[in-house]
Amino acid sequence: MIRKKGISASPGVAIGPALVLDTEEYLIPRRPIDPAQVPAQIQALDAAIETARQEVAELRASAARKLGEKTSAIFNYHEMFSADPKLRAAVVTVIQEHHYTAAYAFGQEMKRQQRKFREVVDPYVKERVRDLFDIERRVLRHILGRAREDITRLTEPVIIVAHDLTPSQAVSFNREHILGFAISVGGQTSHTAIIARMLGIPAVVALGDVTSDVTGGETVIIDGTHGVVVANPDHETIEDYRADQREYHAFEMELAGLRDLPAVTHDGVTVSLLANIELASEARTAMELGAEGIGLYRTEFLFLASERLPTEEQQYEVFREAVQHANSKPVVIRTMDLGADKMMDGLEFQHDHNPALGLRSLRYCLQHLDMFKIHLRAILRATAEGDVRIMFPMIATLTELRQAKATLADVMEDLEEERVPFRRDVPIGMMVETPAAAMLSSVFAREVSFLSIGTNDLTQYTLAVDRANERVAHLYTPHNPAVLKLVREVVRAARKGKVTVNLCGEMAGQPLYTQLLLGLGLRQLSMAPKDVAEIKKMVRSTSIEDCEAVARKVLRFDAGRQVLNFLRGEARKIMPEAF
Ligand code: PEP
Ligand code: MG
Repeated sequence: MIRKKGISASPGVAIGPALVLDTEEYLIPRRPIDPAQVPAQIQALDAAIETARQEVAELRASAARKLGEKTSAIFNYHEMFSADPKLRAAVVTVIQEHHYTAAYAFGQEMKRQQRKFREVVDPYVKERVRDLFDIERRVLRHILGRAREDITRLTEPVIIVAHDLTPSQAVSFNREHILGFAISVGGQTSHTAIIARMLGIPAVVALGDVTSDVTGGETVIIDGTHGVVVANPDHETIEDYRADQREYHAFEMELAGLRDLPAVTHDGVTVSLLANIELASEARTAMELGAEGIGLYRTEFLFLASERLPTEEQQYEVFREAVQHANSKPVVIRTMDLGADKMMDGLEFQHDHNPALGLRSLRYCLQHLDMFKIHLRAILRATAEGDVRIMFPMIATLTELRQAKATLADVMEDLEEERVPFRRDVPIGMMVETPAAAMLSSVFAREVSFLSIGTNDLTQYTLAVDRANERVAHLYTPHNPAVLKLVREVVRAARKGKVTVNLCGEMAGQPLYTQLLLGLGLRQLSMAPKDVAEIKKMVRSTSIEDCEAVARKVLRFDAGRQVLNFLRGEARKIMPEAF
């Protein structure tokens, strides 16, 4: 049994067989076999090892020809290890004694070897772990042959264990069969974490080398609430977590009872709870979960899920679908926010050294006006179908906002000439997610109908911490006083300028921050659909007076840690079960 601590990315408990994506991309079930099948499994093992050994010998010969004998020595170890009779004997024993399939037994043994190697201090020996991965993959490929599972067509429920998922991979999964995610890298606001929350699937990120600790098919527990993963748990641990799972389920049921109740504080102030969505179909779920509209539609996921640039018609159809699902409630469509960690194969993104500071999002759009105009046409056409609002992301300067608005005005003119219906007075807003935009929010407030504070990026840019890098995840703190002062600045500017202000970063969906955000003056929060009920419970359990006291106190702290400790204490008083 191995227990690993990572960062909680999406709450809940999941227990199931692992599908390890990085090493083998195969689903290896831990299925006991009939004792009569033991000889056949051993034969399959021998054949696979022999084929893998031949492959390595060929590779070595080819490397020797192309790169010289010396370089080809990198395969010495491969060859030696795959032909090692001790390895074979260990696997055969597991097959014979435990009646496991050859694939499962081999995977188990290889993981055991890899663990042993990683513990060695000698860097040369440590490096050999990679060779072991390679051998494992080769042999498994031959044992499983065509029985490999296609990850987009899963047929049984699994826990995905991976180094990371690309956004397009994550949206292409057959979600019915995904119980949970265990991911090596990332942070709380990395896109894999956001997707897991959108899907409502328990997930833990920043687990380090989790793919080498788990064998495909092995049972894994994901405790998304506490950021813990247990591989190969014993019976007692499974039972403990099953109890947690039941408790979490009961909590969810209790929250479901709040669905149709208003989000009103004790002192009668109504808070508008909206949903963040990544896919059009999610708008329906959001409404079912009690959201009052869509506060952020991340349209870039439509691009990420397509191999080619979607046409105007395809985009329009998808946006229309989202608007229809929203049932006349507002839908804030954000123009595509591609780049940084959301890359699309079909687009020519040059590799920036520093992608989060590079040609991404609106900056990219403003340099690729043809594509941007098609996108805006599709969005504008969808405005005729319901209460649509348009929002521009990643703005740092007034010029960018004005260029974006001018482009939108051009597209409106074109549509008018063509007599294509759309709403001329569609409200236009912008994300405040750079410190520059936050500091000049009073200027921006004169140019738009609404501001939406994106604390995910605002935290990243204010603290100069990559939001998706697990090595600096401990420094990524939206409750840092510097970030909070910027949030307060934006709320004040919006009030003065008489424009609506929303907060749509991940902190909006975390009950820990609800009192603080209300105390700072926010009355609109946008979050993953699944978080709406919990935040509603928090809103209904407090008063604005108390929230303002919390905010006053928090703003006097100098360090993020003080803020966090204080907020934990306050939130625990209201919702002890969540903290
Ligand atoms: C944000 O940056 O806070 C935000 C909501 O946008 P995204 O997470 O899509 O960058
Ligand atoms: Mg952002």
